Amino acid sequence: MQLDVVTLFPDYLEPLRLSLVGRAIERGTVRLAVHDLRDWTHDRHRTVDDTPYGGGAGMVMRPEPWGECLDTLVPEPAHDTGGPRLVVFTPSGRRFDQRLADELAGEDRLILACGRYEGIDARVVPYARTRMRVDEVSLGDYVLNGGEAAALVVIEAVVRLLPGVIGNPESLAEESHSAGHDHLLEYPIYTKPPSWRGLDVPEVLFSGHHGQIAAWRRDRALELTAERRPDLLPDDRRGEFAIAAAVA
Ligand code: SAM
Repeated sequence: MQLDVVTLFPDYLEPLRLSLVGRAIERGTVRLAVHDLRDWTHDRHRTVDDTPYGGGAGMVMRPEPWGECLDTLVPEPAHDTGGPRLVVFTPSGRRFDQRLADELAGEDRLILACGRYEGIDARVVPYARTRMRVDEVSLGDYVLNGGEAAALVVIEAVVRLLPGVIGNPESLAEESHSAGHDHLLEYPIYTKPPSWRGLDVPEVLFSGHHGQIAAWRRDRALELTAERRPDLLPDDRRGEFAIAAAVA
């Protein structure tokens, strides 16, 4: 997978050279290019922002450096799958989740655009849509100073899904929010010692009975999801847990 990140703070992306993502880069599973948006400015001060039309606080990222940058990264319009997909970070975008991570992990090339200040001039996204597929993506309902932290999160969530990045691919299928786990929260996990400070590991986990362990884990995953995130329950189990909660 090719990843291009466009930012005013290239150093912010340095942690990607660490750990599993770093290893994926070293092995060539991921090719990472971090671009400084100021490279597409032409004035002495390398200006990328200006005051908002209509007044108001803060500065807005000018469209010209973004336009030139995108033209350089994607010289010909390419809307097909196989062509690049542009992710523009904004608090008003589609909420990032495991489904979107799965979707993005299927792409050959992602370009991640990190805003700063009050955000990017509103003409940049419609222009980009004339040349490539574009998603406006939010990390959640809060405001960050810039899109770099969002890029770190999205890249980590996507790259760990690529073949060969996680040692045991089975661990991906069992995780919270994963499709292989019906998008439920993960069941409680334990390791040694069997008893710790008066708290014991559930007996069933020592039974060696795979069917019983799987059934116990499934029940705990459903219970935990019903308790913490009932919105994630499969439709056919929602009523059952609503009744159980009402009885309790
Ligand atoms: N004025 C914008 C608003 O009210 O929606 C917020 C701008 S924010 C200070 C600057 C940049 O940080 C945004 O352009 C975006 O790239 C990034 N950003 C901030 N919050 C974000 C979030 N929740 N998800 C993704 N990116 C975010």
